Order: sequence, then structure tokens, then C-alpha cells
Amino acid sequence: MEKKKIVIALGGNALGNTLPEQMIAVKTTAKAIVDLVEDGNEVVVVHGNGPQVGVINNAMTEYAQQDGSNPAPLSVCVAMSQAYIGYDIQNALREEFLNRELAVPPIATMVTQVRVDADDPAFRTPSKPIGRFMNKDLALKEAGERGWIVKEDAGRGYRRVVASPKPKEIIELPAIRAMADSGQLVICCGGGGIPVVAEGKHLAGVPAVIDKDFAAALLAETMEADMLVILTAVEKVAIRYGKPEQKWLSDISVAEAEQYAADGEFAPGSMLPKVQAAVNFARSGENRTAIITLLEKAREALRGETGTRIKK
Ligand code: ADP
Ligand code: MG
Repeated sequence: MEKKKIVIALGGNALGNTLPEQMIAVKTTAKAIVDLVEDGNEVVVVHGNGPQVGVINNAMTEYAQQDGSNPAPLSVCVAMSQAYIGYDIQNALREEFLNRELAVPPIATMVTQVRVDADDPAFRTPSKPIGRFMNKDLALKEAGERGWIVKEDAGRGYRRVVASPKPKEIIELPAIRAMADSGQLVICCGGGGIPVVAEGKHLAGVPAVIDKDFAAALLAETMEADMLVILTAVEKVAIRYGKPEQKWLSDISVAEAEQYAADGEFAPGSMLPKVQAAVNFARSGENRTAIITLLEKAREALRGETGTRIKK
């Protein structure tokens, strides 16, 4: 098969929700990644970090309370999550190559900063809940002391909410490219990347969460990849999802995807950002294909046997 440059975006099911779950989940994830490498593709891996960054953020907040210091900024927590998740994926990949009696390629995790615009409208309407649940009194106290914005989350208590601005520039892109081009298997842009804004020469971390599917699409576009493969918990994208007249989609154009999105076919916060990320990439050049499929079906989807393909 023809060698393709592929950016994979791994969803929550690729990593599980807890430390022990992650140890097990990464084995399946490594199989899916090694399948694509074994088929001769150049692969770069992007992953989410929701549960992991939550755990780290909570731990750092607890620590700060005992210590009387300020909790580690969210940007630092994202950096920690990239290292921790990278460690587990590196280890699982190595083992999977050995299990198949394949040569283990150089595997590396790149701690990645992603620049966002300080005036991104998302900063005016923070909506992404992060960290622990609090009762109202504590939530208001933390909001006052730390300048957090807190909101009631689905009747389960109060949580801090942060903005989800659009990724504008992958700061470590030249390093990622150089590594990938020299045959290394790179894990990068974890959790959508460490969100930073430019302040003169300094890149300042900001309390925000970048959507990993948008970061993966920007990476795929700027690396001039052939494919963006979004691996998640469904085999295909559907219209009328969950309804009796549900219809799975196999091959759709950018225009069709946009029309379905405008018609409200995709849930905001889950499938909508994936379809939008797929559209961004597919529209960015000729012969660029985005695929959304189940983690375990990556290889079949690349062979055109399943998944939802979005092309110009
Ligand atoms: P990830 O952790 O991979 O980012 P999400 O839960 O954020 O996964 O998004 C994937 C989920 O989106 C699917 O598991 C499915 O339940 C849901 N979903 C919402 N709308 C649709 C749709 N129209 N077609 C398919 N799946 C959808
Ligand atoms: Mg998601």
C-alpha cells in the first residue's frame, strides 16, 4: 500500500478514565497505531487528556491548600498530562512492536505548546468544566480568591469553567516535523496542546483547554499530511443519531458535512468538533481525507472498509 502521512487523534476511550484503566486501554490503542505503522504509513499521534488533566489539577489544588500556595496553573497541568500519557503510550507502543517481532522505531513524546489568540471570543464565554466538583459556598470562595469562573454542572455541583479557544499555531511544529520526517513515531499536541498566548518574546500559559480534534486538524494541515484519522467510540458518524431513522454516513463531501452540521445533526462538545475539525483539514488542500471511526477499526477504515470519510 502507498505510504501516507497520517495524523491520528485519539479520543477518551483510547486512554480510559483512571490510572489503572489507562494502563489497559493503551494496549488496544497501541495495536491500532502499530497496525497503521505496519501498513507502511508515517504516523503522528495526538491524544485527549480530559480525565487525566482533571486528576492532576485536583491533586495540585489539594497540594496548594496544604501548602498555602497558589495551585499550579492549568497550562502546567496540561504539560504534566502530556508527559504522563506520553510515557504510557511510548511504553505500550514499544511492547506492541516487540510482540509483533517488528523493529521498534524511535518513539518520542513532544511537550507541545499551542498558541491561541488572547482575543479569541471563546475567552468571553468560558464553558468547558474542569477539575473537582464543589458546593456553592466553596465554589464562590474559590471564584473570588482565584478569579475563577464557576458554574453549576448538570445538577452535580459547581465546577470551574474555562474557555476553549481555537488553536492558531503549533510552536513545536518544526521539531515535530523533523522527527516524523526522519522516521520517528511522534506523540504530540496532547490534550490539544499547552495553551499559550504571545506576550512579546514570552509565551504565557493561559487557563484554557484546546479541543484536541481541532489541534490535530491544524497539525495535519500544517504538516501537509494526507489524512486526519479521528479515532473515537463510534464506527461512523450518523445523521438523526440515536433516532429510529438514524443513518450512518460513509463518504461525504465537505459541503455535505457542513450542511448536516448546520442542521444540528452533531452534538456540540462531542461529534460536532470532530466533524468541524475533519472539514477544516479536508478543505485545506487537494487529496486530503479525514476519517472518523472506531479506535479498533482504524486499519479497516484506512483500507476503505468502514468509517466516515470526509473529502473536498
Ligand atoms: P472522544 O472522547 O473520542 O472525543 P466524544 O464522546 O467527545 O469522544 O465524541 C464521540 C461521541 O459522539 C460518540 O461516542 C457518540 O456517542 C457521540 N455522537 C454525537 N452525535 C453523533 C452523531 N451524529 N454520530 C455519531 N456519534 C455521535
Ligand atoms: Mg471529545
